Amino acid sequence: MFRTSSTQAVVLHRYRVGEIHKGLSLLTLDMGMIRALAHGAYKMRSRFRTLTEPFSNIKVYLYHDPVKDQYKITDIESLSLFTCIQGNMVKFFTASLWAEVIMKSYGGGESSAELFNLFRNALKYLDSAAPGSEHFISQQFLWRFMALSGFSPELSVCSNCHAEIANTLFFPDGEMEPFCNKCIKGKCSSLSSGARRYLQTTLQLPLSAALKVRLMAESAIALKQVTFQLVQTMVESPLNTIKSGMGIL
Ligand SMILES: [Zn+2]
Repeated sequence: MFRTSSTQAVVLHRYRVGEIHKGLSLLTLDMGMIRALAHGAYKMRSRFRTLTEPFSNIKVYLYHDPVKDQYKITDIESLSLFTCIQGNMVKFFTASLWAEVIMKSYGGGESSAELFNLFRNALKYLDSAAPGSEHFISQQFLWRFMALSGFSPELSVCSNCHAEIANTLFFPDGEMEPFCNKCIKGKCSSLSSGARRYLQTTLQLPLSAALKVRLMAESAIALKQVTFQLVQTMVESPLNTIKSGMGIL
């Protein structure tokens, strides 16, 4: 029996299959993360060609071949191509980091609609972001993603001695929860009380309101370091985009 369906999706990643076909990793609204084949999408004149580039927000019509257990794309409608992300290196690396985090940590379909909406909305704000503000959108995406994945560090208590932490939080390598200054040992990143207040305030807000809040440059740089350390701990793997995007992200 044939099976057809349609869903909203964002292209996470594309790869060549044979000479002219394009394999896609898609984050979908209804089906979690799936792989699907776009026949002939590398041909110059294919109407799927630009629609299947990374971060395009599309509606895909799918046919499921039960014998090969494989999705094929039969049609695509464009919802948003996010062309500013495509044309800007900082934006492109930022979106690539999010896509890599999703692909490395997300297998099944749990909370798929919430994650889809977070990713699509963050892409929308990133697409129209003023230069210099990409970093804040990325912090918001990554912390909200960690929360959706079940990692929400308690930002006021030492996870080792359970004492209240009044000032700086320390994150030793490999830990998802903060330590106080008495419990730290070895290499760790630190989060100022300003950066902690920023997170505690903004993560309660809708994304649009959170993006209006700014943080001092020094705290922002330290926050980025902690966030990158935590997401790599969460996915249990170094992230290629952080390595190749050093100096850009
Ligand atoms: Zn402690």
